[in-house]
Amino acid sequence: MIKRRALFPRRSNYFVLANVLTIMRRMLLIVDPQYDFITGSLAVAGAEEAMNSLANYITESDGKYEVKVLTADSHPANHMSFVENGGLWNAHCIEGTPGAAIWQPVMRALISTQGDTILLKKGTDTATEEYSIFKNSDAAVRIKEIIRRHGIDIIDLCGIAGDVCVLDTLNDGRRLFGDGMFNVLADYSPSIDGGAPLQSAINSLQEKGR
Ligand SMILES: [Zn+2]
Repeated sequence: MIKRRALFPRRSNYFVLANVLTIMRRMLLIVDPQYDFITGSLAVAGAEEAMNSLANYITESDGKYEVKVLTADSHPANHMSFVENGGLWNAHCIEGTPGAAIWQPVMRALISTQGDTILLKKGTDTATEEYSIFKNSDAAVRIKEIIRRHGIDIIDLCGIAGDVCVLDTLNDGRRLFGDGMFNVLADYSPSIDGGAPLQSAINSLQEKGR
């Protein structure tokens, strides 16, 4: 009995250690919080409110994230996704124009809170569409490095548009890192269509335990 009692302090230390080890290291991944998708040529309904709420969330969550990554559509003026070039979309996020800039409340919140802020570009090649940041090979390599270096356990994902670039990022990310890596912040992911496709992806993640 004496021997067993002597073990108790040591066991409780193990419990403390286990709790420390189970603290999740999180990354915030914000897809394309750019003016053209908020108030510009491809404005999504509700995006301005959602991005302002996201900025508040980032400020209130100061310290929660090891690292914050934002992606940016960064197209040449003759990009294949534009209607005049046979694509689906109005010209948008042309590199160097105000429409390609990051929504200022979000940017200010990112740079004034703890954890590195890293901007990754996509859609930079005239002939290539890249809804998901993982389709840009340079950016995909960098994200993998960031995840490894920071020991990231969970990626909180949000941005614009929920049913296009956020959903495509989620689908690619699930294939690369598994379902357990992703948590979608739906309140900060306004969709073009009202959100049904993104919601069904969220439901499928939740069925798998998140
Ligand atoms: Zn684009």
